Amino acid sequence: MYNPEAISKAFAAAAEDRSKAIAVSVERREDAEKRCPRLADITKELSAVGAGIAKTFYADEPMQSMEALANESLRLQEERKALLKAMDLPEDYLEPAYTCKVCEDKGRVNGKICACIKKRAIDISLKELAAVSPSKHCTFENFDLNFYKNIQDENGKSVYDKIKNNLEYLKAYSEDFSAESKSLYIFGKTGLGKTHLSLAVANTVIKKGFHVLYGMAGVIFSDIEKEKFKSIEGKYTMEKLLQADLLIIDDLGSEFHTSFSASVAHNIIEGRLLAGKPVIITTNLDLGGIHKQYGERIASRILGEYVPIKFEGEDIRQLKKFMY
Ligand SMILES: [Zn+2]
Repeated sequence: MYNPEAISKAFAAAAEDRSKAIAVSVERREDAEKRCPRLADITKELSAVGAGIAKTFYADEPMQSMEALANESLRLQEERKALLKAMDLPEDYLEPAYTCKVCEDKGRVNGKICACIKKRAIDISLKELAAVSPSKHCTFENFDLNFYKNIQDENGKSVYDKIKNNLEYLKAYSEDFSAESKSLYIFGKTGLGKTHLSLAVANTVIKKGFHVLYGMAGVIFSDIEKEKFKSIEGKYTMEKLLQADLLIIDDLGSEFHTSFSASVAHNIIEGRLLAGKPVIITTNLDLGGIHKQYGERIASRILGEYVPIKFEGEDIRQLKKFMY
């Protein structure tokens, strides 16, 4: 669960927010105390009361002394509120305005990661996905089925129902996503919405808190090639490709084909299968094409272990051009 890099970035962002909030409150306090010196006295008196409360544990009658100090503390706080109000300032003006009230931007509550860190990690992951893909525009909600009403398959039948089934299957798949989810082989001609829907899956699964890694096959393979031969670390490393809860390889087969890319594809598919982790492949290649480009082993893995999802019909992007 959760991309560990996104979690570290979330902690760093929270720490930054925390120090900003504290810096602002220090400035405010100094400014307010200059305008109203009594506020500075109250701060000193409050910390003396705090120290006194700690000492009452050793007093002869701890409860009584503690109650008196607690009352004194309340009285001072009320006085401070009244002074701030007289200065037209809100009563929490001197307190740091933390983004998260629960953990005060420390990121942990009772040793556990705070919900705000998880939320930040999800936002970071969604932004990173949007930086390498049009994912912002690719949701289940904005997938327009109406375009498919006029598209026919090779037998002249409308593909509307088939695409609708694919949409519903993938929506349910992403909503029910778990470590046990199956791998998917999404194939068919270009321009029928394969990438749109695989990114919609990515968006949904990231929002559920899973670590999703998405990449174009060509970019993934060239990064792995650089990693292997030049020891340059790109966005994709073999370790990351095997680590993510869900890996999406977009447009497999479109990359510049070499025996190296075939062996990388093989290592990724075998490695994730061994680790029991799902992959979503989108491709224009049917199984015959996969066999030809990547060999029998990969083709038989996909046949045996992946759920096939076929997209039929003609390129919808051409149709969209005519309609707008
Ligand atoms: Zn928090």
